[in-house]
Amino acid sequence: MSRNTPDSSKKLLQYIREQITIDESPEEINSLSHHIIDHLFEIDKNDIILDRSLNLSSAEEKALEKFLNRINQNEPIQYIIGEADFYGKKFIVNPSVLIPRPETEELVHLIVQENKGKKIKFADIGTGTGCIPITLMKELSQAKAYAIDFDPRVIRTAKQNAQRHEVSIDFMLLDILREPMPSLSLDFIVSNPPYVTYADKTAMKANVINHEPATALYVKDEDPLLFYRRIAEQSIGSLKPGGKIYFEVNEKYAEDVKALLEVMDYVDGVVIKDINGKDRIVYATYSRDIFA
Ligand code: GLN
Repeated sequence: MSRNTPDSSKKLLQYIREQITIDESPEEINSLSHHIIDHLFEIDKNDIILDRSLNLSSAEEKALEKFLNRINQNEPIQYIIGEADFYGKKFIVNPSVLIPRPETEELVHLIVQENKGKKIKFADIGTGTGCIPITLMKELSQAKAYAIDFDPRVIRTAKQNAQRHEVSIDFMLLDILREPMPSLSLDFIVSNPPYVTYADKTAMKANVINHEPATALYVKDEDPLLFYRRIAEQSIGSLKPGGKIYFEVNEKYAEDVKALLEVMDYVDGVVIKDINGKDRIVYATYSRDIFA
């Protein structure tokens, strides 16, 4: 870079845009470039409008080159920076956890709307960063949360996030596919389990396929409802009668998840679309058969 070192913030932004070679839209590359310039040099949009002059040190140039190399290897910026935004807060991320998605913000938002003002006890299954229970603890005062994951590295990361956001959560290392869930008498259970089938994988981008944890993403094509069935079965012993189950789902299987819940002890299943018009959330109420 040294021969043509950009000497103003506008030129540096332009340089960064030109250096990014990944297969993304110009809008995405533009927003990525702003993110990088802000993260590395604390140059925000306002500084760019003012086009301040710059004099990058060689250490700064090196750091930029290294960063751009990682971006061009399709590494998600959130893993490079070590942080991702969710519901207005920053969460620590690393390749052991899925980067929180906007769809999951919609799931959290729905739960907040439905439970505001209530004193609730809930569990999140497959917690990842912990973004769901931590946000819910912040938004719902007086709540009590359990967060479950099968991977000790994940639990470590989620604990760090709980500490960062100063909420108290009971973490449980438990593999929901193989171990029973304790009886907790919960008001609701929430989960964003793996729901991408291997058939869907072909349509996904390299940044997700090559860098995000497969265990958080994929489920076998032959049994795409595996996690939903298992969680719904386990939840029966852990929910209060009248308690709810909230799922994030693959848009192709929303109706199947609802039907699955309704042949078990759940009633009043609802499918909700996300901001892109895709069936993304299914929830239902646990109703113990009074004649049983
Ligand atoms: N929404 C995520 C994606 O499409 C998948 C999350 C999940 O499998 N639970 O990348």
